[in-house]
This record gives sequence, C-alpha cells and structure tokens, in this order.
Amino acid sequence: MTEENKPKGRAAVFRGYGQPFTIEEVEIPQPKGEQVVVRTAGCGLCHTDLHIWLGELPGVPEKVPSVLGHEPSGYVAAKGDAVPDRVKIGMPVLVQGGYYLEDDIYTLKGLNQMAVKKSQSWTGAYGLYGGCYAEYFLVPSYRYLVSAEGLDDLAAAAVLTDAGLTPYRAVKTALKLVGEFAEPGDVVVAVGVGGLGSFGVQWANVLAPHLDVVAVDAKEEALEFARKVGKIYALVDAKRGDPAKAVAEAAAGRKIVAVLDFVGAEQTISKYIDLLSPEGVYVVVGLGGVRGSFPIADLVINEKKIVGSLWGSVADLTEVVDYARRRAVNYGGLVTKRWKLDEINEAFQAMRRGQYVGRMVVAP
Ligand SMILES: [Zn+2]
Repeated sequence: MTEENKPKGRAAVFRGYGQPFTIEEVEIPQPKGEQVVVRTAGCGLCHTDLHIWLGELPGVPEKVPSVLGHEPSGYVAAKGDAVPDRVKIGMPVLVQGGYYLEDDIYTLKGLNQMAVKKSQSWTGAYGLYGGCYAEYFLVPSYRYLVSAEGLDDLAAAAVLTDAGLTPYRAVKTALKLVGEFAEPGDVVVAVGVGGLGSFGVQWANVLAPHLDVVAVDAKEEALEFARKVGKIYALVDAKRGDPAKAVAEAAAGRKIVAVLDFVGAEQTISKYIDLLSPEGVYVVVGLGGVRGSFPIADLVINEKKIVGSLWGSVADLTEVVDYARRRAVNYGGLVTKRWKLDEINEAFQAMRRGQYVGRMVVAP
C-alpha cells in the first residue's frame, strides 16, 4: 500500500491540557489478530474526558497526542484475521472501553473493567486510534463488542456504554445487597440526576419496580429532566434548606434501603448515609471528591454497608442492550444534544459550563 491510498479518517486530537482539540486527518490502522476498527456512530461526552482535558487526572493520557472518548457506538469497518465470522463488516456495535493487557482473576470472572493491568482507551495507549472522538477507532479485541442489532438510534445508543452501564451495575449491586429486607414501597435515593443519575432512576424503576425513587440534585432542570425520563416519587432540591431532612420527609417513615451516590463527595456521603435504614446500602458511583466521612457507630450498630461500583463489564453491557432493545430503558430521550466532530471544542466548553441536562453525544 502506498502512502496516498492508505485509508484516513478525521479525529479530534488532544495536544495538551486545556488546549483546543485539533481536527486532523489520521491514518486508519489495519487491524491485526483480534483487533477491530469501528466507524463511529456516536461518542458520548463524559465528564471523565473533561477532567482529563483540564489536567485533573495527572498522568492521563499517558501519551500525547492522543484521542479521547470512551462511550462509543459504531459499525465494524475492518477486522483482524483472528476475529470470528459472527463479527461481520458493517455490523452495528457498542464497545465497552475497559480494555486490559493481560488476563487476571478479574478478567477471568468476566470483570474486564476491573483488570489489574488496564489499557483503557482514554490512557492514550492507542495514540490517535484509541478514543471515539474520531471517525474511526481501533478496538484491541472483538471481545469488547456487543451487538447493537435491533437498537433504532445507534448514535444515541453510545451513551449506554457508560452513562447507561455504570448506574446499571450500581443498581444491581445495591439490589443484591439489599436482598429481601426491602419491602414494597421502601425507598431508594438517587443523589445527582445528571446523565448517569437519570439512567440510575430508570434502572431502579426497571429492576426494582416495588421501590420508590427519591431524586436529589442541586439543579432544578436536572430534577425536572429526570422526572421526564423516569418514574420518581419525590424530587428534592439540594440547594434548598436541609435536603437530607427533605428526603426523610418524602420517605415518610418507610425504610430507605439504598442510596445511589452519583456525586461521590464528602458533602453527599456524610449527609445521606445517616438516612439509611439498618442493613441499608450506600453505593458510591461518582468520583466527585477525594475522601468522605461517615459515623462509625451507626455503621456498625446498624450494619450499614458502603460499597463502590465501577463502570460495568461486557456482560453487564449485554444485559443493558437487551433492556434497550425491549425499550425498557429510554436512551434516545437521554441524549439532549448532538455535536459534529469539528464542534468538539464547543462541546467541551458546554460540558465545562454544565448548562445541559441528560447526556450529549458527538456524532461525527
Ligand atoms: Zn465515562
């Protein structure tokens, strides 16, 4: 192949913290072995990318220049010779971007996102071919693909791979630990109902329809939006008065069996863990702070549990797609804005200002 006829695609290239992304023509790699090249349909705008771009996650990406974006959907464009026949060219797919370098006890249990030696798309390990803020991106193995056959809006479905997947796993974790002590009419609290939290409300509706959801957020428009996409028993504006008291009042004596914390900060953990009933579960999903505090005696005497929940596995994503196919979860309505690839700098500024609800997507 000569230099001229090598296939190329546009990518938004990260050239340094806080610097504008540059739209560049980059060569599309030839996939080898298990690798797959995907033509992007959509790439969700995740706050993790904003933190990376602002330099708030030191050392990430490891390599510059690189391409960010880890919430992708697209079509299989090319594949290596070790990719099985069932993965067809043109097939619509979602990609779980929790790539890893070698198998360990977690990956063997199917928990790819927990791998000890991670090599995720946003680390820069794949240079200009890793992230989905590009027309094409390289996936290190077909094993990260989930068929998106039967989903009617592939660009919007990108958000299922992170904004949809992460709260799905968190709600499953909560329900596993809550077990049978939760009774119909008991309460689950969603703290923070942005992109992830509004999916969290929906998953609680789907997986635990016997529980009532109380949603807390400091943004009125986020609360209103969450109410549009999910079934919410009560909304609590965190800016007004004492929100913990307002949640307790909404629960009106019923057990608060779980709190899903999509913010994950000292202010949220210290405030809302007190509300849990004995045996209640506090699931931390957000990474909004460094450390948090909780009352030790209350934790011990009432056997409360605090657990973290990370993203979701390829297996979890398969379940998420099944629900989406059956229209049990609304993902299209979650996408409130679609940007073109060359509008990416504007998109990041919009994300930084936080003046949006739901989730935004880059659809090149
Ligand atoms: Zn993310």
